[in-house]
Amino acid sequence: MENNKNKILVTGGAGYIGSHTCIALHEAGYEIVIYDNLSNSSKEAINRVSSLIGKPIEFIEGDIRDAESLRKVFTAHQFFGVIHFAGLKAVGESVAKPLMYYSNNVSGTITLLEVMAEYKVTNLVFSSSATVYGDPETLPINESSKRSCTNPYGQSKLVVEHILEDLATSNKQWNLINLRYFNPVGAHTSGQIGEDPNDIPNNLMPYISQVAVGKLTKLNIFGNDYPTVDGTGVRDYIHVTDLAKGHVDALRYAEHQTTPVGFMPINLGTGKGSSVLELVTAFAEVTGQKIPYQFTARRAGDIASCYASADKAKQLLGWEATHTITDMCADTWRWQSMNPYGYKAS
Ligand code: NAD
Ligand code: UDP
Repeated sequence: MENNKNKILVTGGAGYIGSHTCIALHEAGYEIVIYDNLSNSSKEAINRVSSLIGKPIEFIEGDIRDAESLRKVFTAHQFFGVIHFAGLKAVGESVAKPLMYYSNNVSGTITLLEVMAEYKVTNLVFSSSATVYGDPETLPINESSKRSCTNPYGQSKLVVEHILEDLATSNKQWNLINLRYFNPVGAHTSGQIGEDPNDIPNNLMPYISQVAVGKLTKLNIFGNDYPTVDGTGVRDYIHVTDLAKGHVDALRYAEHQTTPVGFMPINLGTGKGSSVLELVTAFAEVTGQKIPYQFTARRAGDIASCYASADKAKQLLGWEATHTITDMCADTWRWQSMNPYGYKAS
């Protein structure tokens, strides 16, 4: 077995946030092993990450629910820790297929934790979400805000959070850094990797960029009667490169603890909210593209406003977002216009 304390297992590393994080990990001197079943990603993303970092990446095609396959990976490598992105993330699909979501996101995480425990790998960075806060009572949202979810996707994240809390209580060896992402958008500045939704996008930024590139005709803005600056929904958009860096900082934080921290929830957001109309206007200005839109009814389950208090990330990790909405739009557009069909055309 190799002995490399700088080695990180990245589950879901072929996906949108995972692929960007692999680049940040490489730049910080970590060695990466990607484990992904490619259920929502393509091998081409890994090829492009390899060419951006100038070296091949070890990739194992496998499912996090497959304990035997995971054991083989943990036998072959000695990991300092695991960054666990693997999971399903579409809210609407989770309502239609709850068992599939609980199986992938909850059972899969339990299997991964069991194998980590067997191999005494006790550093985990987990992809949670601001969705665990539901409809917030106060803004900005800090880490001790009340948690509640209304759909199976959100529930699956919340259940995993509870599992991680219980695990940390049962055994004091764990560093379980639970990152709650706000709204990740943007792409690597090279335009080589980015978000590549399978069907019509559910999320705002990829929808806008597909309208801009001519794949979709018009944006539907879900509601203009919210109690916000202009009546449209407000979110905390965060550049995926900033988000990726947050994972490196979380690993460094775990590495520098003399006593394990147990369950540690940390928001990754900018602390600033933008409305749908503000994002549409910024995108049109930055790219010079027209974004036709129409107002439609509110989307079921949507909330008016959601933005983070990012103080804890700054205090504990020394992390803060540096990219602006302008950067987010420009980088999304570079990726979208260079790859109108995502990775599929490759
Ligand atoms: P993504 O779908 O692009 O990446 C997830 C990756 O996990 C994919 O490559 C997929 O093939 C893989 N995967 C899924 N199920 C698997 C399984 N059972 N075994 C092995 N691999 C599996 O999604 P993303 O946007 O990169 O999100 C990464 C993580 O962050 C997810 O857990 C998601 O829930 C969470 N998150 C995402 C957002 C967002 O808006 N993108 C916001 C908050 C939290
Ligand atoms: N939104 C919209 N049209 C779309 C997609 C999203 O008006 O086609 C709005 C949505 O109502 C919300 C914001 O854009 O106010 C962000 O939505 P997204 O799905 O990207 O993130 P989430 O709602 O999960 O935070």
